[in-house]
Amino acid sequence: MEIKQTAFAGSFAKESQCPRDGKPEYAFIGRSNVGKSSLVNMICKRKSIARISRTPGKTQLLNYFLVDGLWYLVDLPGYGYAKISKKKRAEWQRMIRTYLKTRYTLQSAFVLIDSNVPPQEIDLDFMNELGEEQIPFAIVYTKADRLKPQELEDNLAQIRKAILQHWESLPPEFITSSNTGLGREELLAYIDQVNKQ
Ligand code: GDP
Repeated sequence: MEIKQTAFAGSFAKESQCPRDGKPEYAFIGRSNVGKSSLVNMICKRKSIARISRTPGKTQLLNYFLVDGLWYLVDLPGYGYAKISKKKRAEWQRMIRTYLKTRYTLQSAFVLIDSNVPPQEIDLDFMNELGEEQIPFAIVYTKADRLKPQELEDNLAQIRKAILQHWESLPPEFITSSNTGLGREELLAYIDQVNKQ
């Protein structure tokens, strides 16, 4: 699937303010610095469309991008900022939980995982939460270009093993690099397929 046009559709502080036009949407989320802005830009083939959403730890907004007038890519505020206050963290949790639980048009979440680092408790916890709420999700491994093929495979094997301690099977996964465009086609094909279901 090729994208012809992506338009910023707004930033919203809570689910109740989000678009009500019924278009399917896909939410991207991950630890701060996982490469989310770069991935959103890579998917949209725009240099800095996601910059608008870069206000770490301050405003926590749901950022909407309308793709080809058909579906929304939603850039969710990331988790795991070291400097964030307890209060802000609780606010983030409440907003994200409400969004994920109540968003009737959400087709799938994409949980971004850095392919360069060992399994992180915070990512596993977040996936477990999605599981408890029965929210469909896929994994997007980021920054795959940083590792040699064998190192990448070894790292992914470790992460998959950690996931399988909590899950019976692995969710759909995409191995990506925003530097090289790796995984873009596959990710868009997946979204296209879900949109058509
Ligand atoms: P965010 O905080 O999750 O939005 O992460 P950013 O997109 O700002 O990326 C964090 C850092 O990782 C930046 O220094 C990026 O240049 C780098 N980065 C992001 N994606 C990739 C990638 O695919 N490959 C490499 N080598 N670096 C990346």
